This record gives sequence, C-alpha cells and structure tokens, in this order.
Amino acid sequence: MRLVMLGPPGAGKGTQARMLEERLGAPHIASGNLLRETVRKHSALGKKARTFMDRGSLVPDELVLKLIEERLDKPDAQAGFILDGFPRTVAQAEALRKMLSGRGRSLDKVIALIVPDDEIVKRISGRRTCRNCGAMYHAIFDPPRNVNLCNACNSELYLREDDAEDTVRMRLEVYAAETSPLLEHYDRQGLLARVDGVGRSDEVNARIIGALGASGSRTEDRQGNARR
Ligand code: AMP
Repeated sequence: MRLVMLGPPGAGKGTQARMLEERLGAPHIASGNLLRETVRKHSALGKKARTFMDRGSLVPDELVLKLIEERLDKPDAQAGFILDGFPRTVAQAEALRKMLSGRGRSLDKVIALIVPDDEIVKRISGRRTCRNCGAMYHAIFDPPRNVNLCNACNSELYLREDDAEDTVRMRLEVYAAETSPLLEHYDRQGLLARVDGVGRSDEVNARIIGALGASGSRTEDRQGNARR
C-alpha cells in the first residue's frame, strides 16, 4: 500500500506510521528523518538544509525531492510505503505523482490527522527524540523506560532545536500556509480520509485502520507472499 500521512508537526504522524509499518508490511519514510541524517553527515547539502530546518521553514524542493526519490527507489519500498512529512506543498505532491507515475504507480490513500494547535504546542514542547534512530517520546505522556535514553537503541534523547515553542509556532504557520491546501488537493482526487488525531495512540490507530478499510490489511497469496 502507498500511503501518505498528513498533519501538522506533532500530530502523531511518525508514531502512527511506525504502528502501521508491520500491519501494512511497508516502510515508514519520514522526510524530516532523512534530512536530519543528511545534516548529521555534515555534507554541503546537510549544511544548507540545516539553515532552513533550524528556523522552522521548508527546505528547498530540489533537496527534499532528491532524498525522497533515492529512498523510494530502495528495494524495501517497492511494494509500498508510508510517507510522513512529505509531500508538504502542492508542488511536492505533483512531483511525487510524477515520480510514481513514471514507475507505473500511484498513491492508494492519504490520511490527514486533525489536531488543534494548542494541543500541538503542548505535545511538542515535551517531545524528546533519539539522536541515533529518531524514535520519539514524550516527557509526560510517553516517557522512555530510562530517563533520557531510547528504549530501542539506548542512545541519548534530546529536544530538537526546532521543537522549541517559538519555532513550533512558526512551523504551524508554515503548515497552515503551505501544507494544509494539500487536504483539498487530495480530497479532489478522492484519496483523502480525515482522522481525529486526539486521544491515545492506540485509539487513533484504530481510527486510521477503520479509514483504510479493507485496503489496510496485508493479505497473503497461496504461496505465502504478502500482497498489499
Ligand atoms: P519534521 O520532522 O517532519 O517535522 O521536519 C522537520 C523539518 O525538516 C521541517 O520543519 C522542515 O524544515 C524540514 N522538512 C521536512 N520535510 C520537508 C519537506 N517535505 N519539504 C521541505 N522541508 C521539509
């Protein structure tokens, strides 16, 4: 299944995408994680990306598109994927459509998580991210087993520079201006499902699975190969 998760920063796209990975047998691909990996490598590309990310603005398309295209061409993404954080503009959505149609493919569904701004700011200011694997926790709602250490890889957790409150407000403005028109865009194409993103993550997950309907379960053919 080829799925896009839409929603403001902190809406729970990453958490939900990770919960869906196993069920759909498709990798979670987060543009923010791909960009942060590039930044960590200290390449020229990474340095350029960082100047935009630290202030909460969008990184230029040519840079993001290159990273996404490389990732979507990897073997594990051939049967499906769950995109998180991309596309973020109508221009990126069009670029994605062309990228996929050039390979004889198209999106199956777009899930938009709906969460009010005040709830977002509350969620993000407590958010802690693993420096190594990108897993996310919340200091109050979803604390790690050991203080400031990732449950999965035991690496240090940190508050992302762009998760500071002022930058979060800026990211919400960017979302409203640049990304929210995508809801209408995908609605017109009959791909959009709006899902209430407030509540426990398992409750939100059940709503998403309901919205995916029959297409949201992995089926096996007679040889035991997974089909989506
Ligand atoms: P995220 O982890 O999705 O919240 O992304 C963190 C930051 O990475 C954003 O605030 C942007 O600066 C940048 N970014 C992530 N995805 C994109 C994208 N699709 N287009 C442009 N910039 C992006």
